[in-house]
Amino acid sequence: QVTDPLAKEGPSSPSYDWFQTDALVTIVIYTKQKDINLDSVIADHRHDSFRAETVIKDYSYLIHIALSHEIQEDFSVRVVENVGKIEIVLKKKENTSWKCLGHPLENHNSLIPKKDTGLYYRKCQLISKEDVTHDTKLFCLLLPPSTHLQVPTGQHVYFKLTITGTEIVKPYTPVSDSLFSEFKEPVLPNNKYIYFLIKIYPAGLFTPELDHLQIGDYVSVSNPEGNFKISQFQELEDLFLLAAGTGFTPMVKVLSYALTNIPSLRKVKLMFFNKTEDDIIWRSQLEKLAFKDKRFDLEFVLSAPTSEWNGKRGYISPALLSEFLKRSLDTSKVLICICGPMPFTEQGMKLLHDLNFSKDEIHSFTA
Ligand code: FAD
Ligand code: NAD
Repeated sequence: QVTDPLAKEGPSSPSYDWFQTDALVTIVIYTKQKDINLDSVIADHRHDSFRAETVIKDYSYLIHIALSHEIQEDFSVRVVENVGKIEIVLKKKENTSWKCLGHPLENHNSLIPKKDTGLYYRKCQLISKEDVTHDTKLFCLLLPPSTHLQVPTGQHVYFKLTITGTEIVKPYTPVSDSLFSEFKEPVLPNNKYIYFLIKIYPAGLFTPELDHLQIGDYVSVSNPEGNFKISQFQELEDLFLLAAGTGFTPMVKVLSYALTNIPSLRKVKLMFFNKTEDDIIWRSQLEKLAFKDKRFDLEFVLSAPTSEWNGKRGYISPALLSEFLKRSLDTSKVLICICGPMPFTEQGMKLLHDLNFSKDEIHSFTA
């Protein structure tokens, strides 16, 4: 008889402890995992409650407490990676001794499947909005000081706005502020800023509302989600990116991560499908990157080009893919990432299977 299903199926449950000095309260989470980093923990302090969600494989370990005393708005998070220990340092409002940390709230000190945790939102402020193409803009949002959240490469978040009395939720994928930001000092000093490339559809439900937000207005942003795993990059030699329209967004961080962090990488090739030249997001940055980094190749394919266009034309097709997806060595370890409109991704997946790429060699970005 199985008494605790998690004991059989999931990782072993973390535990926590806390200690204090005159000015600080430190919550320590012992995850019993080695692959923990600052992306693994999402923490929010709201009124008198504190919530920290530690993501361990497909599970979330929750700390959720009504604190016994007031704390300052901001806090810090540290991770001791080799022992899987997370330390959250809260600043007391008053230098008094706390007899207890507080009272447990829903799901406190429990390990639950991530799919059952629900989306947790915090309000982020719109800091800037810049035109990138005729219909796509770069939005910069600022996380509140009372939140620690870093979106892992390949994951997305949900935005929530109330539109004519109804809460509407849509997914968006964080990008860096430019293709070169991984290689330079950040313009803004910390990682509290999140950037998004968002296409505004005049007849759409959500994006016109988003576009109407003024600088200083707020939008609710969820915890990250998505099933892309950085481990898919291990020992990778050839990375192929197939992006259509805003399906380019997950490729931004994937591309930067691969070029910066994968020593085995030989080649990254992006095939970027758009309707017209005016629709190509960050065209000149992409061309500059291809010029600077010889490992990176770039091909634009247009489905509705003008007569002057000399490049490739049409939708995703067997001919385009079989020419593009050449391994740099016969035995190269490859990963193919694909993202775009549903029919594009479905057609692309089918063609990749027909070309005998295995499931492990393909990642499609979907909700
Ligand atoms: P919608 O109301 O959904 O309409 C979109 C367009 O389709 C409009 O032109 C509308 O007129 C038309 N339309 C709507 N319904 C129909 C219909 N039945 N028949 C014909 N036409 C119709 N988008 C980004 O810009 N950036 C991102 O980083 C990003 N990341 C995403 C990540 C994930 C995981 C997913 C699944 C999607 C992502 N998207 C992203 C898309 C985004 O979530 C929204 O779908 C998009 O912003 C459109 O929302 P909307 O409500 O404005 O438009
Ligand atoms: P778009 O209408 O500008 O089309 C871009 C290209 O997609 C076209 O040039 C064409 O090559 C291809 N395409 C379009 N329709 C096709 C079809 N029926 N068959 C084959 N190919 C087709 O694209 P957009 O308006 O920028 O839309 C981008 C899409 O990507 C949205 O549907 C969005 O939801 C999706 N998206 C998904 C994620 C994700 O799942 N993680 C992230 C970002 C965007």
